[in-house]
Amino acid sequence: MSRRVVVTGTASGIGRALAQSLSKEGEEVLAIDLKDADVQADLSTTEGRERAIREAQRFGGGALDALVTCAGLSGNSPEIVGVNYFGTVELCEGLRDVLAQAPSPRVAVVGSVSALHPVDAGIVEACLEGEEGRALARAAERTDAGAGHELYPSSKAALARWVRRSAISDSWAGEGIALNAVAPGVVLTPMTDILLADEETRRMVEKAVPMPLNGHAPPEAVADLLAWLIGEANTHVTGQVIYVDGGAEVTYRGDSAW
Ligand code: NAD
Repeated sequence: MSRRVVVTGTASGIGRALAQSLSKEGEEVLAIDLKDADVQADLSTTEGRERAIREAQRFGGGALDALVTCAGLSGNSPEIVGVNYFGTVELCEGLRDVLAQAPSPRVAVVGSVSALHPVDAGIVEACLEGEEGRALARAAERTDAGAGHELYPSSKAALARWVRRSAISDSWAGEGIALNAVAPGVVLTPMTDILLADEETRRMVEKAVPMPLNGHAPPEAVADLLAWLIGEANTHVTGQVIYVDGGAEVTYRGDSAW
C-alpha cells in the first residue's frame, strides 16, 4: 500500500529529486515549497509554517507516514536560521501527533557536514532553547560583525543536536517515530551552482569540504538515503546524523569519532 509522505523544499535540488523518486515508487507525496508545490508556504514565517502543518495534517487524514524536510537556505542572512532550524523543527513538532498515528512513522531532516565548521554558540543555544527572536537577533549581530559565514553551520549544528536529543525521547522513540538527519557534503544543486561556477571559489569549496570518494554528489545520492531512512525497512536507525559526503567528515574528524 502506498504511504503518505510530506516533503519540503520540493521545487529544487534534493527535495525535488526525492519527491520525484517517491512518486515514481507509488508513494503519495505532498510537496511544500515557496512556489511550484502543492502547498506554497514560506517556512521562515509563523503563518507559512502553520499553513504547511494544517495542509499536511489534512493530507495525512489522521495518520501521516513520513516527513522529510529538505527546504533550506545558504548565504549570510539571518533568515537562514529561521528556515533551516525553526522552519524544520516547528514542522516536525507540529506533525508529531499525526505521525504517531501511522503504523511505521519516520522523519528525516537535512543537516550538513558544514555543521562541523566553526559555529556561533549563542545562535546554537538560542535555537535549542526554542527562542527564535533571540537566535535571529544574534544572527544579525554576527552578520554585522562580518561573521555571516557562521550562520549556516550554526543552524545545521543546532538541527543535528535537536535530532539527537529528541529522537530517544518519549515523544519520538516512545511513539515509535524514527527521527534522523542526513548531513551532505557538496551536492550539485542550484544552492551550489554559483559557488562552483567560479574557479577560485570552487577551489575554496574543495579545500573546505574535501570529498575523496567520488567528489561532489548528485542530489539523488542524498535523496536515496532519505528514502531509505523513511522507509518501512528502517526499524531501528534513529537519532543518527548520517554523513553522505564522500568522506569529508572522516577527513575532518579522523578515526576517533564514530
Ligand atoms: P536548493 O536551493 O536546490 O533547494 C532548496 C529548496 O528550499 C528550494 O526549492 C527553495 O525554494 C526551498 N526554500 C528555501 N527557503 C524556503 C522557505 N522560506 N520556505 C519554503 N521553502 C524554502 O538546495 P538543495 O541543495 O537542494 O538543499 C536542500 C537541503 O540540503 C537544504 O537544507 C540545504 O541546506 C541542504 N544541503 C545542501 C548541500 C548542497 O551542497 N547543495 C549541502 C549540505 C546540505
